[in-house]
Amino acid sequence: MHAADDAARTTLVWLRDDLRITDNPALAAATDRGGPVVVVFVLDDDSAEVRPIGSASRWWLHHSLTSLAERLAELGTPLVLRRGGAERVIQELVAETGAGAVLWNRRYSAAREIDARLKTRLREDGVEAESFAANLLFEPHTVTNGSGEPYRVYTPFWRACRQRDVRPLAPTPARLSAPPDPVPSDLLGSWQLLPTAPDWAGGIRDTWSPGEPDALIALNDFVDETLVDYGLRDQPSRSVTSRLSPRLRFGEVSPVQVWHRITSAVPGADATVADKFLGELGWREFNWHVLYSFPQLAERNIRSEFDRFPWQSESEAGAEIEAWRHGRTGIPLVDAGMRELWRTGYMHNRVRLAAASFLVKNLLVDWRVGERWFWDTLVDADEANNPGNWQWIAGSGMDAAPYFRIFNPVLQAQKFDPERRYIRTWVPEVDSADYPEPVVDLALSRRRALAAYESTKAGG
Ligand code: FAD
Repeated sequence: MHAADDAARTTLVWLRDDLRITDNPALAAATDRGGPVVVVFVLDDDSAEVRPIGSASRWWLHHSLTSLAERLAELGTPLVLRRGGAERVIQELVAETGAGAVLWNRRYSAAREIDARLKTRLREDGVEAESFAANLLFEPHTVTNGSGEPYRVYTPFWRACRQRDVRPLAPTPARLSAPPDPVPSDLLGSWQLLPTAPDWAGGIRDTWSPGEPDALIALNDFVDETLVDYGLRDQPSRSVTSRLSPRLRFGEVSPVQVWHRITSAVPGADATVADKFLGELGWREFNWHVLYSFPQLAERNIRSEFDRFPWQSESEAGAEIEAWRHGRTGIPLVDAGMRELWRTGYMHNRVRLAAASFLVKNLLVDWRVGERWFWDTLVDADEANNPGNWQWIAGSGMDAAPYFRIFNPVLQAQKFDPERRYIRTWVPEVDSADYPEPVVDLALSRRRALAAYESTKAGG
């Protein structure tokens, strides 16, 4: 066989938000083709369609890539790292390696435009280009209502999803062969994804261990030990949620793996907690479906009457925004959550709701200010879930909470943290003279928010 024929047997697998070996349909298909497999990750900080990731996500990405490279090396092929606009980088790699096929798992944000253009170009050049369903339970274009439109309301959406079958797991490759000539790779360190001066990641390091092996352990531990208590999920001092969100964000585990693990493990008696948990995965699905049909989810109100909303400007509310970011608002539950976030890159869902509502309604600050802060500081910052939830709280989103439902963070704390264990963990000085007075009066600011909303409606 000629060297060129040999090279054409090479398959390039382009990984993005799917940093795993198990249940990876693109990688499984590459194995089926036989021949050498080049696995590449591209740090795309050049394409307009790609939202640059935040600082906490950069930390996670560094460690997840390190773990993935180890797993791939064990299987027989190195992880190749490249940086730049992905469309160009992938075409260059095809030219360098002579690969006959490029395979990837599909994504559903605006970046899918890049993939569509690339697929056309590669095929025009005679290169096989194939993409696969991998990172959602149900692909957005496949779930539509009776009129063929995307669902706009969660409950009927999820009901329709539940009537369908989830795809089977993709087989795990036992071995991958490397191409005969090594493919040059960037050094991960040269990407400078980790913070240095200052190194603020100590709390995140203490809390998390990124990478697929730990993700699979976390999934198994959750299903075997914690799921039975999931009914207590609204209590932030109890560790009964799965904490799989950053794993799902980076694709260290797929929702399909989670689904099969839960549905096969759960006996009838636990069906209620399992259903509740799957319903939360359903919200992830719903937000991705919304993003698919509304790619500007992080920039624009879905409900356009909110374009007239009289938010305080960032300069008017500057001191209050700073107090919110750093957990110094004088509202204990909000401060506890914002400090948990700053220190660990994570915040419990019930507290995210209270902290977001406080910023948007009590401080009357545009939801996009909060969304951007979460985007930078969450290890699970997700292109669909983050803006989707912020718009839900603000009232401007798809199937959002009615505006007048304003969380009272003091009542929320009494209900969900009655012994103040969560609050005391993060705000130990809460009962001392060092703790600040509230930056805003909860009752007055609630009335101000309702009046602002009325004026928005009246202006329409
Ligand atoms: P579990 O309760 O164990 O849930 C399992 C999985 O279901 C989660 O890992 C997640 O993938 C999904 N899920 C759970 N709740 C939601 C929800 N409300 N919306 C969408 N998916 C959900 N989640 C993110 O993954 N990334 C984000 O950037 C993000 N930003 C948020 C911002 C705000 C203002 C709010 C109120 C919520 C946000 N969430 C986000 C949703 C939710 O808070 C987290 O998914 C959850 O706290 C993660 O913890 P867990 O994995 O233990 O959840």
